[in-house]
Amino acid sequence: PIILAIESSCDDTSAAIIADGEVLSNVTAGQAVHEEFGGVVPEHASRAHQRNIVPTVAVALSRAGKTADDIDAVAFTRGPGLIGSLMVGVSFAKAFALARNLPLIEVDHMQAHVLAHFAEAPKPDFPFLCLTVSGGHTQLVVVKSALDQQVIGRTIDDAAGEAFDKSGKMLGLPYPAGPEIDKLARAGKPVIAFAKPDPGALDFSFSGLKTSILYTLQKKIKTEPDFVKENLEDICASIQDTIVSILLRKLTMAVEETGLTQVALAGGVSANSGLRDGLRALAEEKGWSVFIPRIEYCTDNAAMIGVTGAFKFAAGEFVGQEVAPAARF
Ligand code: ATP
Ligand code: FE
Repeated sequence: PIILAIESSCDDTSAAIIADGEVLSNVTAGQAVHEEFGGVVPEHASRAHQRNIVPTVAVALSRAGKTADDIDAVAFTRGPGLIGSLMVGVSFAKAFALARNLPLIEVDHMQAHVLAHFAEAPKPDFPFLCLTVSGGHTQLVVVKSALDQQVIGRTIDDAAGEAFDKSGKMLGLPYPAGPEIDKLARAGKPVIAFAKPDPGALDFSFSGLKTSILYTLQKKIKTEPDFVKENLEDICASIQDTIVSILLRKLTMAVEETGLTQVALAGGVSANSGLRDGLRALAEEKGWSVFIPRIEYCTDNAAMIGVTGAFKFAAGEFVGQEVAPAARF
């Protein structure tokens, strides 16, 4: 089948065309408006989705060399995400399906982040272990099959991406700070020790890290007023090293507990070079096989929604026009 996929859970409007599981196009419109406010403002996000959705779908169709008449089904992100953002994508998908009498496929955004690995080769075999690290989630997932995913570890407070973004905000870096910290960290050394909170089992905690960074820097500033400015690269390298080592430690525990040695990374934070390099080095040492999608498929994108939609199409999992967006899904 040829599937039109729509993603609008946060601040990226994305549309993709998937033909028999293969990605023909994947078009994403970002929203620069949030930089100005140092974070995603839900009302702005919703309005930008309204402006972007029609042109984004049009470009996705034309890049795929398809027209609306070629579409067999519409897949969309039902949640989790910002309700006003989800509303735009869900409404568009429902209207498109209603007008053309097409089946609708609802997709769980987090399940889709994991299945982004099937957007292109190399694809892991089932079962595999996935560490999903994004702006809103940090999860260790046992992926038994495409539609049978079990979360075995999660953050009890902030997500890994949030930890990057909030730490960067304290340093005065622009939003989103994750990529900025990554860039600066490359020129620095992880010489500052921050706390590594551990809530036990396979769970994560990142909110204590912010406090630890704040107190450490405040103490330094007392004797060296320009400490942050003069040591920005080392501070970033230390923040990144702390987050990455927390993630890799729990991932190692999850491999030991599950016996799964195919290890996959998903979500926007998998763009982080420290995490990518750290995981590759660890995998080499331990003999794991590692799967890291291209960055286009790590951050929010409709291709992952379409790929998940294709699995659900094959399983006959459709929804009716009464479907509504779900902020928590
Ligand atoms: P969710 O999927 O949980 O709803 P989201 O879709 O908003 O959240 P993503 O788009 O997957 O999240 O990821 C965005 C996050 O990834 C941001 O927190 C951003 O700072 C972080 N990020 C992106 N690139 C990097 C990088 N190179 N290093 C660290 N963090 C990064
Ligand atoms: Fe996401």
